[in-house]
This record gives sequence, structure tokens and C-alpha cells, in this order.
Amino acid sequence: MSDFDYDLFVIGGGSGGVRAARVAAGEAGAKVALAEDDRYGGTCVIRGCVPKKLMVFASEYAGVVEDAASYGWDLTQGPFDWHSFRSRLNEELDRLEQVYRNLLKGSGVDTFDARASLAGRHEVKLSTGETKSAKHILIATGGHPVRPDTPNAHLGIVSDDIFHLESLPKSLLIVGGGYIACEFAGIMNGLGVEVTQYYRGAQILRGFDEEARGLVAESMRERGIDLRVGTNIVEMAPASADRSMSHAGTASDAAMGASAQQVQEMQAKAEASDGPIWVKSTNGGERVFDMVLFATGRDPNTKDMGLEEVGVKLGRRGQIEVDDYSQTAVPSIYAIGDVTDRVNLTPVAIREGMAFVETVFKGNPTPVDHDLIPSAIFTQPEMGTVGLSEEDARDQEAIEVYCTSFRPMQTAFAGRPDRVLMKLVVSKATRKVLGCHIVAPGAGEMIQLAGIAVKMGATKEDFDRTVAVHPTMSEEIVTMRTPMRTA
Ligand SMILES: Cc1cc2nc3c(=O)[nH]c(=O)nc-3n(C[C@H](O)[C@H](O)[C@H](O)COP(=O)(O)OP(=O)(O)OC[C@H]3O[C@@H](n4cnc5c(N)ncnc54)[C@H](O)[C@@H]3O)c2cc1C
Repeated sequence: MSDFDYDLFVIGGGSGGVRAARVAAGEAGAKVALAEDDRYGGTCVIRGCVPKKLMVFASEYAGVVEDAASYGWDLTQGPFDWHSFRSRLNEELDRLEQVYRNLLKGSGVDTFDARASLAGRHEVKLSTGETKSAKHILIATGGHPVRPDTPNAHLGIVSDDIFHLESLPKSLLIVGGGYIACEFAGIMNGLGVEVTQYYRGAQILRGFDEEARGLVAESMRERGIDLRVGTNIVEMAPASADRSMSHAGTASDAAMGASAQQVQEMQAKAEASDGPIWVKSTNGGERVFDMVLFATGRDPNTKDMGLEEVGVKLGRRGQIEVDDYSQTAVPSIYAIGDVTDRVNLTPVAIREGMAFVETVFKGNPTPVDHDLIPSAIFTQPEMGTVGLSEEDARDQEAIEVYCTSFRPMQTAFAGRPDRVLMKLVVSKATRKVLGCHIVAPGAGEMIQLAGIAVKMGATKEDFDRTVAVHPTMSEEIVTMRTPMRTA
């Protein structure tokens, strides 16, 4: 008989936490509890991958009527009804949350709808007032979006808010250049919103292959997104406020010399503002937008959880530091998923959860393999990528680059200028494909399959030996014969 209430207590009911809890209980027979302080399913299901992808689908219908006309159809385009879409979206998220609850229940996991923190190396304190003990504790609390330090940044929304908007804005400024910023730029543009995007760096999608990033940026601009790189917000304020306040830039600056009551009124007005927002950018331009969305990064959820008090070590950004087996500096405490800030993707959080169960409950120590993870960016067109970018590969060794860019049959026939990109980065010495980068409609689906070959260590000659599927876009990935360049 164990001295603990549970073999495992999981904090966080998102992608990683739910998987680890139900596999530990269902397959390994452990006595498991899980606490979730918001909605089951976590970021991916409630405010990330799933609702975002449904919004991508919604936005992609925009060009369909126009293209259908080129194919002989006589269709009439009506307006997009946000309310109708949003209520269907909410129904779907409610359904999925219930699926997650049922999965836990079906595996025999005790669930607590409560916020949890650590009260000791084996103790979890719940916001309900209860304390539970467990032999092992798994922290899977994910992360949250952060606003920049810009004064009045509270006037802007973050990605969590998008799914609850009462109505779509007429104009939207998106600040950021990562995948979340770019995906929402495409979504909102497709839904008929005038989208401007500011990114302070020289090119969006930092870290990905430069040629692929370039084509995504070009396609975004072609579709009407006013993408401005090397640009950031320096000041923002409610547009309706007094110009002197706007020029001063912030409620606090404007408040200099005002009475305490006036200061409070100004701040309350600024906070309550859901009207247009005046923005001054680093290049000196001043514009008014109906809404500003900050997609400027995410921080791990580690605050006020008693982590450091029990000896768990945190990194510079507040992420939990773990070893290859997801074990923290405290042997009884493990952490997986976004809270560890390794590779912040749903399938990775799930893998880490499964590896944790193998290691701790199945006697099979399993490090998490973070190498060659395929991923997709759901811009329009999508980007699918696995392995090294050309830039990273050529820093590592001598390479050959096979690359082709062309207008795909379906949209070319409809008269669209869209281009796609297929690219392989190949090691000169081993002939292995080190990186595969695709910018095309459906690139996410393509890269999942190409990812298997790359993970298996396929060589360029293995790709060459594979017969093309014709006529498709992806056939080009096996028909590129001459290197575009070597480096
Ligand atoms: C807009 C957006 C789009 C995304 N798109 C993709 C995509 O297309 N593909 C992809 O692979 N990934 C995507 N991601 C990333 C993906 O959602 C995350 O990597 C994944 O959800 C991480 O899972 P997790 O289990 O670590 O944390 P989460 O899913 O964030 O779950 C953590 C849970 O812990 C709960 N919690 C936090 N603190 C406590 C506490 N103290 N007590 C109790 N409960 C607590 C939270 O409420 C939450 O439910 C996207 C993310 C965002 C924001």
C-alpha cells in the first residue's frame, strides 16, 4: 500500500498532461489524478491549433467562388457571417472538451477542476483548499501569450482573444513575425479584414529556410496583407482620446501634471477602450486601426506555483529546466510540453508525455527525440518543413540545394499568380536529405509524409528512385535532377 494518495499527479489538462495521465492510468495501471484550472484540452484544443485551423478553413473559402467561375461555375459570393461561424466553432470546442473529459474518466483518472501549485516535493495544493500527495508529480501547465512592454499594450488583444471577438474589425494591425502572427494575418485577410502586419526583424518566420520565408512573405503581400518588416510600434493610445494624450503616447505620460483622480479616469478610459487605436510606428508613421493583435511571444506558466520553493530550477524565461527524460532538479517532479520551452508543438508535448510514462511507469527509460520534427505553418500558401534550412545546413557541411518554384496547375488555370516552392537540402558527403521545405497549398499534409523519408535518413538518390505521382505539385520533390547551387 502506497504512502501517497496517488502514484501520479498531473498539473495541466492540455495536450501533454491529458496524454500522460490517461496512458499512465489506462496502460500502466497507475493511480492518477489531474488538475485543470481552465478548460480540458488546453491551448491546442481550446485556443490554439484546432480553432485556428478551423478559422484557416473558413478563410480559404474567400477565393473559391472567384476560382470556380474560371472553372465554369456560376456561383455568387455572399458575405462571411462571423457570428454563425463562431457559434459553430464554440459548439465544436465544447464537444472536444467533453471528449477530453471522457478520455480521462474512461481511463480512471481522478480530475480536479482547480488551480494547482506545489506544497512540497510530493504534495500538490489545490485552489479548492485540498492538498494531495503523489509519488510523482508531472507539470504540464503550458504557456500564455505575452504583450510587449509598449505603453498601453493592454489596448491590444492576444491570440486567446481572437476566438471570442464580438465582431470582426474592419482593420487590424498584427504585431509579430512568428508563425502565429503570420497565420492570423492570412486568416483575417481571408475573412475580409484589412490586415497590416508589423515585424521588427528583417524577414518574417525567423529560423525557417530563407527562400521559403521569402515566398510566404511575397504571397502574403500579393493577397493584400500590408506586411511591413523592420517596423514596430513605439506608441499606442485610444484614437478617440485627446490628441495631446496621443502625442504624449501613453496614459501615464499624459498624466504628468494631472490630479490623481484625472489619472485614474484616464487609465480607466484607456483600459475600457475597445474603439479604434492610434499607433505610431518606429518609422514615424501614425495610423489608426480598429484593433491591434500582439503575437509577440509566449511565456511558460510557472508563476506562483511554488516551483523554486521546492527546488525546481527555472530558466531565464521562466521555463522549467529538465533533462532528456523530462525530469526536473527534484527527482519526484517531471515537466513536459510548452512549460519546458523545448519544441512548443502539440505532437511534441504528447511525445514527451508518452516518454515520461515509459520512463517512470513502464521501466523503460526513454529520452525524447527532438531531432527532425516536421512542422507546418498554416499561412496561405502553407509552409511545410523538416530538417535543416539551407543556411543552417551550409554552416554545418558542404551541401547541394535542389529547388524549384512554379505556378501550380489549379490556381494558374484560374489566373492567379500563386507560386509554390519545393526544396531539398542534401549533404554532399552522405547524400542524405538534410532538409525538405515546401511552400504550397497542402504543404502540411505533404511534409508529414516527406518527414518519414527524411527521418529514415533517405538520400537524394532514394528520392530520385521514387516514381512521381502525376499530375501533382509534390511530384517535383522526386523529379529535381540538377542542383540549383552548391555551398
Ligand atoms: C494560436 C496557437 C496556434 C497553435 N497552432 C499549433 C499548430 O498548428 N500545431 C501545433 O503542433 N501546435 C500549435 N500550437 C502550440 C500548441 O498549442 C502547444 O504546443 C500545446 O498545446 C502544448 O501543450 P501543453 O500540454 O504543453 O500545454 P497546454 O496545451 O497549454 O495545456 C496546459 C494546461 O494547463 C492548465 N494550467 C496552467 N496552469 C495550471 C495550474 N496551475 N493548475 C491547473 N491547470 C493549469 C492550462 O489551463 C492548460 O489547459 C499553437 C498554439 C497557439 C497559441
